[in-house]
Amino acid sequence: MTYRAPVADIAFALKHGAGFGPALAEGLYGDLGEDTVDAVLEEAGKFATDILGPLNTVGDRHGTPFKDGAVTTPPGWKEAYHAWSQAGWNGLAAPAQWGGQQLPHALNAACIEMWNSAAMAFGLGPVLTMAGVDALVAHGSDALKQAYLPKLISGEWMGTMQLTEPQAGSDVGALRTKAERMPDGSYRITGQKIFITYGEHDLTDNIIHFVLARLPDAPPGTRGISLFVVPKFLLNADGSLAARNDVRAHSIEHKLGIHASPTCTMVFGDQGGATGFLVGEENRGMACMFTMMNQARLSVGLQGVAIAERATQQALAYARERKQGRAADLGFTRDRQDNLPKSAKADLGGGGDGASPIIAHPDVKRMLLTMRALTRAARALCYTTAVALDRAERGADAAMRTAADERASLLTPVAKAFSTDTGIEVASLAVQVHGGMGFVEETGAAQHYRDARILAIYEGTNGIQAIDLVTRKLPLSGGATVNAYIGEIRRTVAAITAANDPAFGATGARLEEAVDSLERTTHWLNGRQQNDPDTALAGATPYLRLFALAAGGALLAEEALAASRVAGNGADAAARIALARFFAENLAVKASGLERTVVEGADSVNSADAALA
Ligand SMILES: Cc1cc2nc3c(=O)[nH]c(=O)nc-3n(C[C@H](O)[C@H](O)[C@H](O)COP(=O)(O)OP(=O)(O)OC[C@H]3O[C@@H](n4cnc5c(N)ncnc54)[C@H](O)[C@@H]3O)c2cc1C
Repeated sequence: MTYRAPVADIAFALKHGAGFGPALAEGLYGDLGEDTVDAVLEEAGKFATDILGPLNTVGDRHGTPFKDGAVTTPPGWKEAYHAWSQAGWNGLAAPAQWGGQQLPHALNAACIEMWNSAAMAFGLGPVLTMAGVDALVAHGSDALKQAYLPKLISGEWMGTMQLTEPQAGSDVGALRTKAERMPDGSYRITGQKIFITYGEHDLTDNIIHFVLARLPDAPPGTRGISLFVVPKFLLNADGSLAARNDVRAHSIEHKLGIHASPTCTMVFGDQGGATGFLVGEENRGMACMFTMMNQARLSVGLQGVAIAERATQQALAYARERKQGRAADLGFTRDRQDNLPKSAKADLGGGGDGASPIIAHPDVKRMLLTMRALTRAARALCYTTAVALDRAERGADAAMRTAADERASLLTPVAKAFSTDTGIEVASLAVQVHGGMGFVEETGAAQHYRDARILAIYEGTNGIQAIDLVTRKLPLSGGATVNAYIGEIRRTVAAITAANDPAFGATGARLEEAVDSLERTTHWLNGRQQNDPDTALAGATPYLRLFALAAGGALLAEEALAASRVAGNGADAAARIALARFFAENLAVKASGLERTVVEGADSVNSADAALA
């Protein structure tokens, strides 16, 4: 089934859930007007729906054949990439000084969602290029910026992000790729990287690799890592392509999903060493990498939203068409059906006369509502994080920028892990809604499930995100950052209660319980960081889920309140209130169980080694 970009939903979530509307109104984005925002979203929606969407199945089936060191992208991908970059999409949020359009990160986030819904294996490449641009803008020398930024921003060249080595995955500090100082100020890079996304391809003439490596006299661990730009082709003084650098793809992986995204093993130094150029200072590569990773982690969260949106669209369409059983006959078990007269049996199960579309069955409805509610909550969380990034960059004074930067830091691991878990969960439910047709490849539901599975693994596994949240983000500003956020979601919950609208059902009460759980668990974890780190770590993943359920519930409630305020939006308001209520009464209620899991269950994790013997 084809994807249709949900432009109106996306615009609503951006403006009314994520705080983009108020930021626009207060002038955070200068004279940027709502008309321009709407026009950008509309155009992105068209491009994603019409040009990229049809590439998804082609990419999955064709893959990226590898021969003699070269990777061929699937039919139609090169043309689509050129049309996409020439339309300026790659540089949407990049600095104007280097040829970008300097539009908000939040607007770019909405577009990233659409590119990745349409074809995730396509959208992934630009995500890495944009992350490289961020690192170069923040940390590169003027010479490096002049040489590489304009073409990376226009999309004429693409970038890669190279951390992983066989012995260095989650533990980046274990990497061994070597960098040696050369007399001309460049560095000689030797070593091997694995799992490098778009490490080789035919979409662009040059590929700019952002590579982490270690100097001979570097301190051990992450304190001794430096970041280098290593272009596939070196440049002449006038910027034109010169000799091929000593870096090549050795092979590509055969994967469960994202078949059209080449994942390469890269070899540096077959002929003595690749030429690299230092970004930032020696041994300060992790700081540069964090600039890249924050952006990339949010983008991967957006990929989770993207795949969830596409899978939900497909499941909804199928559930409206597929007829099976009669909604009124829901009480029948197979035994009871077997006792029915023959004539009555003919009406059951075969889509015969009187059969209902499966969307009419409450259990299917529950699946579809879960899919829609999780997707919208994840979208709101990702966009909220993107608005915080904008405030961190554009805020009026230093204090506002610092507070926004900490807000973005706090929310980034939640946005990444919750949204990608959502992508996987929703894609799995989409297969379930299709029944047996979901398990065969023709419907496309299986591809979403296969594609989604990587999201919880790359860009820092979701386990690592949870640990980051608990050990590095909760302590920010002595706990003030997380407390301020909890205070904010409490105000939304209070507004729901104050609205006193029966349509909200128990939304206010259930969300209040969820936020109470979040607050208590946060304090409990902060108290254990120093004295009992293993217990805190054992609770990290359930805590992140608890955080996301409380925050996601509040964000959907915020959207529902906003919808009821927007004049002439009646039907939409009813739909948004219904969804917020479903989330609060069916999903946010899991918060109290998660609180118990963290506070009481962690001990049983750490004392149960015998069970794994
Ligand atoms: C398709 C694909 C594309 C990729 N693209 C890129 C890319 O472009 N650039 C790049 O550099 N890398 C890339 N990667 C690598 C990816 O980022 C790593 O696979 C990921 O970081 C996990 O590392 P690992 O595979 O070594 O797993 P491991 O680190 O061995 O982890 C295995 C398991 O142990 C857990 N674990 C590990 N350490 C800890 C700890 N300290 N505490 C708690 N749990 C822990 C993990 O959460 C995970 O569940 C890609 C991988 C794939 C499959």
